[in-house]
Amino acid sequence: MYESAPAPAPNLHPATLVVAAARPAPEENSPVNTPVHFTSTFHGTQPDSTPGQRVYARMSNPGFDGPEQLLAQLEQVSDPVVTPALLFGSGMAAITAALHLVPVGAHILVPRHAYQGLGSLLDQLVDDGRIRITRVDITDTHTVRKALVDGETTGHPVDMVWLESPTNPMLEVADLAALIELAHQHRALTVVDNTFATPLVQTPLSLGADVVVHSVTKYLAGHSDVVLGAAVTDDEALHARLQAHRTQFGGIPGPMEVFLALRGMRTLALRMERSMANAAELALRLESLQAVETSEALAVPAVRYPGLASHEGHRLATTTMHGGFGAVLTLDVGSAPRADAVVHALQLWTPATSLGGVESLVERRRRFSSEPATVPEGLLRLSVGIEHVEDLWTDLRQALRAATSDQTTTVG
Ligand SMILES: *Cc1c(COP(=O)(O)O)cnc(C)c1O
Repeated sequence: MYESAPAPAPNLHPATLVVAAARPAPEENSPVNTPVHFTSTFHGTQPDSTPGQRVYARMSNPGFDGPEQLLAQLEQVSDPVVTPALLFGSGMAAITAALHLVPVGAHILVPRHAYQGLGSLLDQLVDDGRIRITRVDITDTHTVRKALVDGETTGHPVDMVWLESPTNPMLEVADLAALIELAHQHRALTVVDNTFATPLVQTPLSLGADVVVHSVTKYLAGHSDVVLGAAVTDDEALHARLQAHRTQFGGIPGPMEVFLALRGMRTLALRMERSMANAAELALRLESLQAVETSEALAVPAVRYPGLASHEGHRLATTTMHGGFGAVLTLDVGSAPRADAVVHALQLWTPATSLGGVESLVERRRRFSSEPATVPEGLLRLSVGIEHVEDLWTDLRQALRAATSDQTTTVG
């Protein structure tokens, strides 16, 4: 039986860490990669409190140790062996575990624009009488402060502040450090969904966040072939509660999914580098299209990308995000039919929900009835992949043209 290697020294660059960490100890004849352990149970006679004792695979699996320590290290926890990341069967399972850190009746502040799966879950929990929520514009720190103060004066103090930056799908940028400090002044727990930025770009725990959650499905795994989630914390007590939740509620992932995610994480740095460079280039070109082709009124999209100087959160993003601004951008082409026409005309971009894979995806977000009305009808969310940027651009350009002439024909 092999032993998991100790995590490499933390002074390695993240791009090296994702390659070097999470491998078996380098003993003669030991495998270079962690085997997949398809087992539901483990030989055992010792009490379950025995350190390192494996009991049943709903609690742990030897194949999880490496990737869990690696992700914790990327998120800059102080000791990844003591508080490794906790992998869950999906991002939503990790989110569910984090929401259970507050009691029934708790008051949770959430971004008005956030992952729609979170929004739907919270609405359900409110309907069920389990929690109280207040939706806030998290780009406006004063509004958040007011909500925290209002909670106290009305006898419903805020127990948890849920943060997401950049937000999905509006790509708003929040002052994470200020909001986390504010929340803590009001004794509220802070959770940050770091899916869009990834730990290569933003590490909320280093800004004081209590818990970070991930949809590993997206950039971390990176190939649109696995559904997986994670929760990360630097706090031992919170870690124990999240781990107990996973065991008790049963949101443990399958061993094959974890293997696929680790395999994907090996190239995280490379993929992010290329995806972010592509996204930045496409955002610039789309913006200059706006300036040059004003006569082509129908297809002139409004571009949103935190890396653009024109984005209202750009300056803030340069302080919280490092090495890039993510690889999601949005285009508002003005109306649902026009947006649908663009999606229809695209040949290389895949029309599908989700993000963070090697392939470029596009979708009109308001096709989901759960997306709030403040998200424009004509908003397209583009998840930029690792293809050659010229091919992505050529396809986008022809689709915008085709949508314009379609519209002209319809109108004329
Ligand atoms: C996809 C997504 C989730 C949900 O993750 P699943 O793995 O689909 O359960 C949560 N947050 C964000 C920001 C996401 O994009």
